[in-house]
Amino acid sequence: MGLNDAVHWSTDLGGGTRVALVQAGRFRSDAGALFGPVPRILWDRLATDEIDHDHRLLQALNCLLVETPAGRVLVETGIGERVSDKVRAMRAYEGTPIEPALRVAGFDPGSIDIVAMSHLHFDHAGGLLTADGARAFPRARIVAQRAEWDIALTDNSRIVASYDQPELRLVRDWGESGWADGEVEILPGVSVVPTGGHSAGHQAIVVRGGGPGGRTLAFFGDLCMRPWSANPRWVTAFDDFPLDSVDVKASLFARAADEHWIVTLSHEPLTPIGRLVADRDRFRFEVT
Ligand SMILES: [Zn+2]
Repeated sequence: MGLNDAVHWSTDLGGGTRVALVQAGRFRSDAGALFGPVPRILWDRLATDEIDHDHRLLQALNCLLVETPAGRVLVETGIGERVSDKVRAMRAYEGTPIEPALRVAGFDPGSIDIVAMSHLHFDHAGGLLTADGARAFPRARIVAQRAEWDIALTDNSRIVASYDQPELRLVRDWGESGWADGEVEILPGVSVVPTGGHSAGHQAIVVRGGGPGGRTLAFFGDLCMRPWSANPRWVTAFDDFPLDSVDVKASLFARAADEHWIVTLSHEPLTPIGRLVADRDRFRFEVT
């Protein structure tokens, strides 16, 4: 596995399975929307250092490269290279998109067997094509939930705002040939688990190492963007089905805490790796 300074973090889960964090740039999201129903007086101190003059927080585009004896899986693709200057400015998008970021980190995008995405919002599915419209991962099967493809291309005006539908239409056939319908082990030790909540077909990705002492890593997608997402009731205004988010976070996070899973946050720029610890009627994210 190629590891160098461009890999932001990596670990060995056991049994020949390794995971590396590769950040595919950054963008900014409205702070109030990220905290959803939570009053500002409760979250203000958490955001003081990163809030900008437009009241936005810095959101990293965290992707994982999972290497197993059976193949390579990329989790998430970020915003990608195919955004207009207007959108780039509006989102304050900057940094290296996933395809060149993987190359810099020592991974050939042509060697990726599977691209698994938590969901198809613009900031997760944007990197499937290169700037010239070619497949960024030519050998890969694309794994998102069938339910996510179904809702992503509907015409509800809120859906239209969260998904880049013209881009998704370009990759729909590719996505359709690999989509998952329910919980599936996509490679030995790597599973996608439907969650819903943030989006209708949102899924978590769980990676289990093998051998004695094998460890488990979970990527809960946008159900767990930032450290404060550890509270199941702190859901974003971007969650399309927030009551489902609260329920599924409570049950998944309890399992992650009980079984000491490593947890990777989807948009945390500085401390994206840690564990969930039970804390009264909620959980706490502890950086490891
Ligand atoms: Zn996101």
